[in-house]
Order: sequence, then C-alpha cells, then structure tokens
Amino acid sequence: MNILIVEDDQRIVSFLAKGLKAEGYATVVATDGDDALALVEVSGSEIDLVLLDLGLPGADGRTVLRSFRERLPSLPVLILTARDDVKDKVWGLDAGAVDYLTKPFAFDELLARIRAALRGRNDATAHQLVVADLRLDLLTKVAWRGGRRIDLAPREWTLLEYLMRNPQQVLSRTQILNHVWEYDFEPGSNVVDVYVGYLRRKINAPGLEAMLHAVRGAGYRLVQPQ
Ligand code: CA
Repeated sequence: MNILIVEDDQRIVSFLAKGLKAEGYATVVATDGDDALALVEVSGSEIDLVLLDLGLPGADGRTVLRSFRERLPSLPVLILTARDDVKDKVWGLDAGAVDYLTKPFAFDELLARIRAALRGRNDATAHQLVVADLRLDLLTKVAWRGGRRIDLAPREWTLLEYLMRNPQQVLSRTQILNHVWEYDFEPGSNVVDVYVGYLRRKINAPGLEAMLHAVRGAGYRLVQPQ
C-alpha cells in the first residue's frame, strides 16, 4: 500500500513517514501543492491513499483535492489540517475527501481511519463499470472519460450502464427500450435515438476516439477504442 503524504511541515512529514513505515505502508512525500499535482500526474495510479494538508505552499490543498478528485475519483483523500473550522470540514467532505482529521491527532486514530478509507476504496472499485477509459461509478452515478467528469441525467445513466454491461455487442432499439425504459415509452417513438444522441455527445468528446457507434439497421454498440 502506497500512501502519498502532502504536507509542508517537515516534523509532521517525518512523524507520519516513520509511523506509517512501521505499520508496513510505503510512503511518498510532496511538500507543496505543485509537487503533489505533478506526482499524481506521473504516478497517480500507484497511490492507494492520500493524506492531504490544506494549508500548503504552491497550489493550495483545496486545488489539490479538486484536481485529485477529477483525475482519480476513486483515490481516497484524507484531510489532515490544523484548521478545525466546521466550514473547512464541510467543504472538504463535500469536495470528496473521505475523511477529516484535525491536528494534533492520535496516530492510532489516523491508522484506524486509513484502514477504513482503504476498505472503502475496495468497496468502491466493486461498484464501478470500466470500458477502456470510460468509467461509471454505480454508487455516485457519475461517469468519467479519461480524467473528465461526465454528468448524466438519470435516463442517460441507465442507458450508459446497459451499454457498458454489454460492450462490443450490437444492441437493438427494442433491446434498449426494454432494458432502459421498460414500459415507460410511447410505441414507435424515437426516444432511444434521442437519448443515444445525448450520450454520444457526452462521451464521444472532441480529441477522444468515439466509443458509441450506430450500426445501420441494427442498433447501437459501445466499442473499446484500439
Ligand atoms: Ca501546512
């Protein structure tokens, strides 16, 4: 398990790094916000959890948290900060931090929260559908393509889920209607084409290879770009 410590206070860094190492965790350290952003850019997928101080030189902790959430939405971020202002806590949790600890904290409590956050991460990956760089979070009902968040209306979400559960397969309009709309549609309506159109515009973004294709006379297909 790799833990990224983003903290500018050298005493806290060495306290955390030593303590975590003794517990069997590997650590990587960024001592300012810009370092943290660069590190995640290069080796974000190797990091399992982040301990993030909010008051940082360079890019501040809020910017760092937002960027992590966009690029690596399933990476748990635990905020460690001297600020015990309720507003800061609410902001951090709303912005997607999994937990919040105010300094000074007991190391045992930190360890317990790290274990809880890592368990949460394992649960979260069980609730995702992934096709190439397209990912759908089944709990939060948000999709991501590359590092970009895609907000979906409820019907778009159900449609995308159905397509992602059946990648590479041609799905007819009737199949899609039956799965996504059940009985809630007008016979002969073009609702499938309309919603596939909305979804295509969202996931076939400029600069990215198209993933959702019409198959003439047959229906639609979600393909994995080569
Ligand atoms: Ca600080």
